[in-house]
Amino acid sequence: MKPMTEPEIRASLVNALPGEAERMPLPGLHEVVWAEREYLGWRDPGAPLRGYLVYWRGDDAVGIALRASEVRLRPGSAICSLCNTPQPAGQVTMFSAARAGDAGRAGNSVGTYICADLACSLLIRIAPPSYDWMPDTSDVIAARVAGLETRLHSFGGRVLESAG
Ligand SMILES: [Zn+2]
Repeated sequence: MKPMTEPEIRASLVNALPGEAERMPLPGLHEVVWAEREYLGWRDPGAPLRGYLVYWRGDDAVGIALRASEVRLRPGSAICSLCNTPQPAGQVTMFSAARAGDAGRAGNSVGTYICADLACSLLIRIAPPSYDWMPDTSDVIAARVAGLETRLHSFGGRVLESAG
């Protein structure tokens, strides 16, 4: 993704509570390898149920405030609905995002399962083992990137749907 600045990120939240954008802690942006990110996601270390993700929707920075469910998934495996990576249930969390605009203020939200650390972009770049019969690992990763982007935009679209 194209790099985002701190002011762009703070101005990007579509579903934040009043004052939240100013208070939101940001990760160290200088450490982010933007070229290897489809979105930037992070949890709030001071408020563990809060998380944020930001991405580009065309030329618009879109930031979504997330709230993690306190209900833990049953042991077993789970699939992140953004990167589609199957993993142990403890590494996937149910998050809800208030809808943007009036719908969100009326209490409507969108729920989805996402990697608990909001680091899908790192996970999908872990190269699969390569075998003679497997496609080239760079093709595998490119396909994962395309899938993550499609599902990310679809999720963002549901949060933004009724914004007006
Ligand atoms: Zn994921």
